[in-house]
Amino acid sequence: MADPLSTSADALVLGAGIAGLAAARTLTDKGWSVIVLEARDRVGGRLWTDSSLGLPLDLGASWIHGVDGNPITKLAEEFGARTVPTDGENAVEFAADGSELPDGEWEEMEALFEEIYEEVAEMQDSTDDDMSLQAAFDQVVASRGLSEADLRRLNYYVHLVTALEYGADARDLSLWWWDQDEEFGGGEVIFPAGYNQISDGLAKGLDIRLGEIVKVVRYGNDGVAVETSQGDYVADKAVVTFPLGVLKQASVRFDPPLPGSKQGAIERLGMGVLNKVYLKFPEVFWDEDVETISYLGERLGEWCDWLNFLPFTGEPVLMAFHGGEKGFALEDLSDDEIISGAMRTLRAMFGGDIPEPVGVLITRWGRDPFSFGAYSHIPPFASGDDYDALAEPVEDVLFFAGEAASREYPSTVHGAYLSGVRAAGEM
Ligand SMILES: Cc1cc2nc3c(=O)[nH]c(=O)nc-3n(C[C@H](O)[C@H](O)[C@H](O)COP(=O)(O)OP(=O)(O)OC[C@H]3O[C@@H](n4cnc5c(N)ncnc54)[C@H](O)[C@@H]3O)c2cc1C
Repeated sequence: MADPLSTSADALVLGAGIAGLAAARTLTDKGWSVIVLEARDRVGGRLWTDSSLGLPLDLGASWIHGVDGNPITKLAEEFGARTVPTDGENAVEFAADGSELPDGEWEEMEALFEEIYEEVAEMQDSTDDDMSLQAAFDQVVASRGLSEADLRRLNYYVHLVTALEYGADARDLSLWWWDQDEEFGGGEVIFPAGYNQISDGLAKGLDIRLGEIVKVVRYGNDGVAVETSQGDYVADKAVVTFPLGVLKQASVRFDPPLPGSKQGAIERLGMGVLNKVYLKFPEVFWDEDVETISYLGERLGEWCDWLNFLPFTGEPVLMAFHGGEKGFALEDLSDDEIISGAMRTLRAMFGGDIPEPVGVLITRWGRDPFSFGAYSHIPPFASGDDYDALAEPVEDVLFFAGEAASREYPSTVHGAYLSGVRAAGEM
């Protein structure tokens, strides 16, 4: 480790999220001296386990998506972090009036989506020009004459697979590229004691300077000089891991400016949002064993997807997701407005005499000044090549990592991790 008072090193790593930690770990293991500069007062970035309600709850990532061959699975083993499988099959669905959906109705919805999506997927190959995923759905639906009820059900399902997975609505996703990402096989698991076990494990022994907000990155043939809120640092090379949202806001100045190919990619790629609202109750008033609770309310995307945390934590906790436009809209509401919206929906499903929550956690990732969003996506007319352009080194001095610098696995913890290892290898 470098001298804790030193302001120079072989390499600076800008950002102590999973990508920065992976890069710093890899370089340190190879014998480089490395200083990690992090704006927040904690490591982990979009891995953020909060324990203020008396139990660990993840405000950022929760899942290892696909455990087989996934590097995060290996890290979980290395750090002794317990994981628990989640099974989306164990679910209950409610209609807008709070009645449970009749048997078979959810499956019909899925089948309707799959049938329509088959035609949409054909358009991915057959159209000469890109368009939004929504425009493609609209074209297929127009040729079908769906009933009002079927259209609502279809839109609900489209919302689930776009806004709640990609953090962006179908109108903000490229028909050609929206699902170009690759996946690891195997099931999905979460960390009952928190995802930060992974970032904390990686951070051990690294020279990480917290509260260092990077303002300017100057680079050239003789290396890199970084100006932060606390001082100046120099190194031969640097790994840049700022989230796409931060790069888009240009809250860090690069001198000279980043090349046009990279700047273009930053502008074309999209930064979406996924927000979480956790509610801790004095007792359980829902089915203890069920994992997912869906609500097909009148307003698409509002309080539609809930997760029961009782099986994972032993505590009466529910969590609701809001993604895409609805995720951004949630951030405009006060905490009180958000809590009353949640309670209105829960009363519709579980009756008027359910208790008030004893604790609440609300994320606002879109306003987070060190993220400005949850993760990246590919809007119409952007492409997978933009992820490659973002990952491209500049002048053999600046190297780029982060979820948006991973073409294969963007928007994920494992993608960010692998990009950090890749950037360190390039150096
Ligand atoms: C709500 C939510 C749910 C998610 N769910 C999952 C999931 O279940 N599974 C999954 O695989 N992925 C999930 N993700 C995505 C995953 O969390 C991210 O892809 C991954 O953590 C990104 O890591 P990173 O290192 O690229 O970026 P970050 O973790 O954002 O790290 C970048 C670091 O740079 C720092 N920084 C920013 N600006 C400055 C500055 N000016 N100066 C110094 N430091 C700065 C930030 O504070 C941060 O620590 C989710 C994300 C969110 C927000």
